[in-house]
Amino acid sequence: MLKRIKSNCELAANLKNVCLQLIIIVLFPACNLQPAELFIETENFSDKGGWVVDQQFIDQAGSSYMLAHGMGQPVKDAVTEVKFPSKGTYRIFVRTFNWTSPWYNGKGPGKFNVLIDGKPVETVFGDDGNSWIWQDGGKVQIENTKVKISLHDLTGFNGRCDAIYFTQDSAFVPPDGADALTAFRYRQTGIKPKNGGKFDLVVIGGGVAGICSAVSAARLGLKVALIHDRPVWGGNNSSEVRVHLGGRIALDPYPELGGIVKELSPEKGGNAQPANFYEDEKKTALIDSEPNIAQFMNYRAFAVKKQGNAIKSITAKHIETGEELEFSSPLFADCTGDGVIGVLAGAQFMMGRESKDEFGEPTAQEVSDKMTMGSSVQWYSKINDYPSTFPVFRYGINFNEENVQKVTMGEWTWETGMNLDQITDFERIRDYGLLVVYSNWSFLKNEFSEKEKYANRKLEWVAYLSGKRESRRLVGDIILTENDIVDYVDYPDASASTSWSIDLHYPDPANTKQFPGGEFKSIAVHQNIYPYPIPYRCLYSRNVDNLFMAGRNISVTHVALGTVRVMRTTGMMGEVVGMAASVCKQKNVKPRGVYENHLDELKNLMKKGVGKEGSTPYPDYNLGGTLKEKPVREKTFTVACYYFPNYHTGDTRNVKAKGANWSEWELVKAARPRFEGHQQPKVPLWGYSDERDPQVMAQKIDAAADNAVDAFIFDWYYYDDGPFLNKCLEEGFLKAYNTERIKFSLMWANHDWIEIHPYTHGTEQKTLYQGKVTPETYNKICDYVINKYFIKPNYWMVDGKPYFSVYDIQKFVENFGSLEATKAAMDKMREKAIAAGLKGVHWNLVVWGNPVLPVEKVPENVHELLKILSFDSATSYVWIHHAYIQETTNDYNSIRDKYMLHWNKAKKEYGVPYFPNVTMGWDSSPRTNQTKDWKPDYGYPYTGIITNNTPENFKIALQMVKDSLQSDLNNPRIININCWNEWTEGSYLEPDTANGMKYLNAVREVFGRR
Ligand SMILES: Cc1cc2nc3c(=O)[nH]c(=O)nc-3n(C[C@H](O)[C@H](O)[C@H](O)COP(=O)(O)OP(=O)(O)OC[C@H]3O[C@@H](n4cnc5c(N)ncnc54)[C@H](O)[C@@H]3O)c2cc1C
Repeated sequence: MLKRIKSNCELAANLKNVCLQLIIIVLFPACNLQPAELFIETENFSDKGGWVVDQQFIDQAGSSYMLAHGMGQPVKDAVTEVKFPSKGTYRIFVRTFNWTSPWYNGKGPGKFNVLIDGKPVETVFGDDGNSWIWQDGGKVQIENTKVKISLHDLTGFNGRCDAIYFTQDSAFVPPDGADALTAFRYRQTGIKPKNGGKFDLVVIGGGVAGICSAVSAARLGLKVALIHDRPVWGGNNSSEVRVHLGGRIALDPYPELGGIVKELSPEKGGNAQPANFYEDEKKTALIDSEPNIAQFMNYRAFAVKKQGNAIKSITAKHIETGEELEFSSPLFADCTGDGVIGVLAGAQFMMGRESKDEFGEPTAQEVSDKMTMGSSVQWYSKINDYPSTFPVFRYGINFNEENVQKVTMGEWTWETGMNLDQITDFERIRDYGLLVVYSNWSFLKNEFSEKEKYANRKLEWVAYLSGKRESRRLVGDIILTENDIVDYVDYPDASASTSWSIDLHYPDPANTKQFPGGEFKSIAVHQNIYPYPIPYRCLYSRNVDNLFMAGRNISVTHVALGTVRVMRTTGMMGEVVGMAASVCKQKNVKPRGVYENHLDELKNLMKKGVGKEGSTPYPDYNLGGTLKEKPVREKTFTVACYYFPNYHTGDTRNVKAKGANWSEWELVKAARPRFEGHQQPKVPLWGYSDERDPQVMAQKIDAAADNAVDAFIFDWYYYDDGPFLNKCLEEGFLKAYNTERIKFSLMWANHDWIEIHPYTHGTEQKTLYQGKVTPETYNKICDYVINKYFIKPNYWMVDGKPYFSVYDIQKFVENFGSLEATKAAMDKMREKAIAAGLKGVHWNLVVWGNPVLPVEKVPENVHELLKILSFDSATSYVWIHHAYIQETTNDYNSIRDKYMLHWNKAKKEYGVPYFPNVTMGWDSSPRTNQTKDWKPDYGYPYTGIITNNTPENFKIALQMVKDSLQSDLNNPRIININCWNEWTEGSYLEPDTANGMKYLNAVREVFGRR
């Protein structure tokens, strides 16, 4: 049976007594040499009266505090009994904050008294200074050791008191700085973390996302701890914040998702409505009915312990008693909204608005900035049949006849802090929310020319918990973008569907005009979408191995947050997280392992759902403006990318020639700049990984598929004595769990293999393996490629036939001795393929104008060759086959233009379809001896270098090719890219440390769209 801890008055009072006794014991050792002192955390008070506990800023302040939230009417005293070590004279310090000081230079409205046995300390607290301070209350006489301390509010305007400290040491002032203050608190309270238990899953944050995560996992048999820093479940959908649920549930492809959302759903919709609209008790009953959930209400998680890349435990602090509990688990779910746990654990996160460049989103900013959507202090007034007054409240923001908001309530449009930091500035953001509500209401009630209209209205409810929409977003294996949603990009791990519009908030221009820089009202701009399933990979951290996330802190861009943040959607995310956690437990894997190896199990669970009511109707308020038609994503282009497989160890020939651990990465690592400004070495972002490993290959396949690359064309080698460099394809690519996400095909690299790894200018160029093969070897090749590759379901077909490309036509013809014999050999492969149940072979020829490799001879009469040999298409391998690079540096765009001239010619002259090439760059200097001199005209691998091949220019080239193909109705829409990974030729899409994923993203931005 799991330990169940409930927050109730009894427990809090007990813990409080323990705490206060503890404080006194710790502070007064028997020798009694130290001056007497007494420290009181006010949130400990046994009778809170009308004061409330505010924990929202605990991460900045180190503690919760008591808040006199009376909406203009002083609240009832908070009282507690304490025991002084001795009678006598003490100096009293009260930790407080004059909260209007950021806007008003003078005594503030948050005034309160501290009463000792009913007698006020002379100093009035809370109205002075301009930051959190220990306000000095002077000397007080303590006449009994047992004393009643009271907080006596004087205004009802959010006076705040964090702690009270009495000391007989006249020279001592308690510390202010964050670390010193924290140390002081611990010294005073003596609190140490206790064991909170061991669970299968620890969920932090009891908003809709957190509740659904916990319930889903619990129903699937996991022992779950649900940790929440408030006394009420539901987050923004609780009676404390009062935001109604939005979006749809029960959507394709998993209509059973949303079952738990339905169970907790309040019947009535509406923001800023009376408390009962939010049916807190329904959420309580739901959680209470799950025996596998241990509830830790009123606990705020604030610390994380890690082991390697995983979280080992988190520690949470009770917001009233300060008690600390440490929870261990193999899995954690960050449902805090702010990504609190992720950030504590060092997870990558994003905050603010991304630029267009970063993800190519049409709605994104031109330039990134720190702006977020704001937070809301919602409020409403009530009409009575008698008049009521409201105090004059003027603390730095001046309303008048023109700018007063003539309203009786404020819901989502009352929004503050868009230009501030929603984490570090959050108290100020909330306070500004309070300030504008009170100031506006005060004007309406006291000064407005039409104040009679408001005479019978009373300010009935103002939230002191500010509702957040946006802060930090934790980065997962996929960052969901606007393009994914709008273009309906299919991901294999599609999960819960988001249906709300892309709804982004901006300062209301009318409000900006009236309150420049001090806006408190917003507008929303909506872009309706068709329900779009969020990839599961957005729901776990990229770099913290055992961290899930659900809620508004998942892996999305600012623009995509516009849709996913609504609570019916965040609830479904939670359901998926609970399901994935159960797969993790069952299969003993981490969240990523579910995607990599157990996606089917997760899909089965999503199909079934964990709700109790099945897909029955649900209260259908606030569904949002969803499109009825699914966008048709006609991806009419095929993007193939050459893959050069010399980045693995263990190839038999390489082992013999270079050693067991050699791969071409050695040349990448050794590369050095050969002239001023030369950018070498290139450093792979994914490390010098071994492509023979299916896990390594899986990462490449996902990145390719996610970025609109449809096929790899492997450079493929086979000599008279058998294959070469084949382990990458056969052991890596074909064994990767996700191999079918993209297609593959072969370009027979049938040139001589010469020793250029590295080559020293002036030395003999040794041919290691002859590209020419005997007709017998060719026969073997036919059988090998057909039976090993062509028949695979993910072999790339063009016109229904397997694409097979030949690199060197001269060598190819030499194999057979004549064009006629060559044609017969090609037909032979076609026949064999048909015999194997295929439709034939699509023979493609790589054509070059300039030789690159030392052994290359330029083919003559290309048109004749293609015709006689009946090739089905032609293509190019790399631009520099058609554009000389004579200089040390050669501008990318000028090489591009020369290639384009070739393409135009080829199109007209070749007589077969020509598949254009886009080259990412060129720099073969890593293949030269780095210790000897280098000149660009020594001959390959000593060649000039392409510069200015920025991701932007690469993208322009892709777009030019796309546009040109689009306007040509006769040519198939196929392009190839040089290259996925020619690192030692300076042409690669794989991410490096300088440009990250930008080249790959460029492919998606151009070809991933309709
Ligand atoms: C005014 C307003 C109007 C909105 N309108 C709508 C609407 O109409 N419909 C809709 O669906 N959405 C709406 N939204 C958006 C939506 O409410 C949020 O995006 C939503 O709260 C996200 O849910 P969540 O579960 O991620 O986070 P939350 O609801 O914020 O829940 C997270 C919970 O975790 C707790 N927590 C945080 N840190 C810790 C910690 N360290 N330890 C323990 N507990 C912690 C918090 O106290 C909080 O209660 C609105 C938001 C606002 C502010």
